[in-house]
Amino acid sequence: MKLLKRLSEAFGGSGHEEEVAELVAAELKPLCGKVSTDTLGNVIGVKRGKGRQAGRKRIMLAAHMDEIGFIVSHIDDKGFLRVHPAGGFDPRTLMAQRVTVLGKGTHRLTGLLNVAGKPIHLQTSEDRKKDLRVGSFFVDLGLPAETVKKKAEIGDRVIWQRGFTRMGDCVTGKALDDRIGVYVMIEALRAVEGNRHDIYAVGTVQEEVGLRGALTSAYEIAPDIAIALDVTLAVDTPDAEAQSRVTELGKGVALKIMDSSSISDAKLVREFRALAEEHEIPYQLEILPRGGTDAGGMQRVRGGARVITLSIPVRYVHSVNETAHKDDVQAAIDLLAVYLSQ
Ligand SMILES: [Zn+2]
Repeated sequence: MKLLKRLSEAFGGSGHEEEVAELVAAELKPLCGKVSTDTLGNVIGVKRGKGRQAGRKRIMLAAHMDEIGFIVSHIDDKGFLRVHPAGGFDPRTLMAQRVTVLGKGTHRLTGLLNVAGKPIHLQTSEDRKKDLRVGSFFVDLGLPAETVKKKAEIGDRVIWQRGFTRMGDCVTGKALDDRIGVYVMIEALRAVEGNRHDIYAVGTVQEEVGLRGALTSAYEIAPDIAIALDVTLAVDTPDAEAQSRVTELGKGVALKIMDSSSISDAKLVREFRALAEEHEIPYQLEILPRGGTDAGGMQRVRGGARVITLSIPVRYVHSVNETAHKDDVQAAIDLLAVYLSQ
């Protein structure tokens, strides 16, 4: 899981995925005949199939390299930064977090997210009733305004800080959404043997702001079959009702039936289920009421593609403590490798 640690700790806000892209390209190179980067920044590795050209299908894999983050929108006279979100944040997850500001040139500044207003000691009961919004937060860099303005400017990226670590049977860190999908893609490719069909492994950009990289790369590749690799919610935590769990940690890779961006191809779902059963790979079926994956983008380019999402169940999605079970990660790698080896 050393590679997953490196992927998780790399910085890659939407539209600024270069650091992750470099890692992905380096990993794909020995596994694919050809690796390229397109105009938008998607990294595309091609592993040609051994079948006859005429019968060969194009299978596209997509795992997004971007993570949710912020962009500096204002620097005030005291050197405090205001930030604009790029991706969906729950403001409650921002309390007391440390962030890294990717400043001018090579400046990397540690900062603190804080809510504008009074500390608890000075709050009135009226103050306490105020809604917490993402826009309520500012970043303190611990520097005078002149220094801040030398090192940072409007448009700089802000990513939260959190080291990747093992915890019990799980792994936890920031940006497992979707570096864990990137990891599954790379490890499955490593395990593939004798693929008949052409495999296009794509690290996509800008998924968190609207599946943008998946759309352009799928247009170029024109896949017959497209498989998104992404996290899904595991709401198997206290006070969650059984019917709202979506998935559970440790119960295997999730085969997505639908979410709000796509309905998986029914034949593909059946095929993956049959393979999982044949190879005794644990799996669960998933319906996500809200949220989407790159499958939603890949499905609707050109004449359309048959899509499915293989999901890795994750607790606390879109927080610094995204948490996955090691067995579920392995199940996702095994199932994808078995499918691609056909
Ligand atoms: Zn994702």
